[in-house]
Amino acid sequence: MRKDTLKHQGKRLQLAKVVEDKGIRDEKVLDAIKKIPRHLFMDSSFEDHAYQDKAFPIAADQTISQPYTVAFQTEVLQVKKGDMVLEIGTGSGYQTAVLCELGAKVYSIERQLELFKRTKLFLSKIGYRPRYLAFGDGYKGLPDYAPFDRIIVTAGAPFVPNPLLSQLKIGGRMVIPVGKDTQIMTLLERKSETEFEKTEFGNFRFVPLLEDRN
Ligand code: SAH
Repeated sequence: MRKDTLKHQGKRLQLAKVVEDKGIRDEKVLDAIKKIPRHLFMDSSFEDHAYQDKAFPIAADQTISQPYTVAFQTEVLQVKKGDMVLEIGTGSGYQTAVLCELGAKVYSIERQLELFKRTKLFLSKIGYRPRYLAFGDGYKGLPDYAPFDRIIVTAGAPFVPNPLLSQLKIGGRMVIPVGKDTQIMTLLERKSETEFEKTEFGNFRFVPLLEDRN
């Protein structure tokens, strides 16, 4: 296992400051950034860059999201301790770790087998315990575990998948970047069985949410 040193910890405090200066106010989210050893979620060749506020490549042509993006989405999600949270796109597991730090019961889906296997092993090694990591198609959600208080999609979705809408509790919140080349961060609040209130935030850029072709 690679190390987490005082130097890394110092860099994380600086990263949290950068993210705060960009407008993130939620102390619990900032605390998670201060605590989680992001460099260990990345390939050792990128380790020196781990505390820059940037996305970086991970395995299978995917990326670990930019810390500001992770913080923004998580802040909009408004996670409470004990919430059932569904994440689409486990990737490196960094966002999963943030949700665990907030005390959520985390369910996460990844469609790349290599990432699924590696992240599952890594998260348990480092001591994070999401409730369930699934290998499968995020478009379908996890009907067996629904409904969820919160749903977070961490890849660019060409449209909002209906199964995810139906797996959201009434009173629940879903944060999803919607669009093809760039995405509009979108919050959907479920008001009733049939009504969803939509709020749109700024533009972001994600790797695409891919259809399941396995
Ligand atoms: N939350 C991740 C972000 C990874 S990037 C992190 O913090 O590192 C988005 C991830 O979504 C990639 O790992 C990609 O493989 C995954 N993905 C893409 N389409 C998917 C789908 N249909 N179902 C589940 N995961 C998907």
